[in-house]
Amino acid sequence: LLQIWGLCIWGVRTAWRTESDGDFYCPGCGGDRGYRRRGGTRKLTVLGVPVLARGSAGSVVECAVCRTRYGLEALDRPTTTRFSAMLRDATYTVALAVLVAGGSAGRQTRDAAMAALREAGFADCTQEQLTAMLTALTATADSTRAQDPGAADDAAIDGCGSWLSIELHEVLEPLAEHLAPQGCERILLQGARIALADGPYLPAERTVLGAVGRCLLMSQESTHRVLEAAARVLP
Ligand SMILES: [Zn+2]
Repeated sequence: LLQIWGLCIWGVRTAWRTESDGDFYCPGCGGDRGYRRRGGTRKLTVLGVPVLARGSAGSVVECAVCRTRYGLEALDRPTTTRFSAMLRDATYTVALAVLVAGGSAGRQTRDAAMAALREAGFADCTQEQLTAMLTALTATADSTRAQDPGAADDAAIDGCGSWLSIELHEVLEPLAEHLAPQGCERILLQGARIALADGPYLPAERTVLGAVGRCLLMSQESTHRVLEAAARVLP
């Protein structure tokens, strides 16, 4: 009898407090939602009144719409809005890298790059903006080369200058973790089409496209297959 009494008198309850909030992709109700990150503290209760903290119950993420709770890893997945922006940035960076590698002078090449950018959602990107960006990038690459000839070797690794090479890694690698293999191939293919717009791949273009494949965590074989397939339909 004492034991039954004990169960009723003593208890443990988790008290939750909001630590932060933001937007996340809720797998429960399937969309971008607000979330509250909540930290729990276990409390010993007597007759329902908390008397003593009994340690942390960890943190959870709670959807503001469906109230489902998840582990903190739910925040690793980008929201759909963020994901679209990542895809757009990927297309833009790959286009610039291919243009820098290929010399970018030809009208066909620029038209192909503009087509890829518009398809990716840069509806208001103009030829002038693209030209300005390329001029700035080429100037940076030239001055780096003049100041530090060693840097030219680094730049040669990915074929497109060190700034763009860093950009490629920073933009593509986080995206690749969340993108299906077909999605990665599509980004590479967009780059390949730009490179092929004025004729077969130049060695520098191949190098930069190889780097794109690596940043997208594609195997060398897959990269090669996508590039060869694109070259076969060369007009
Ligand atoms: Zn939800």
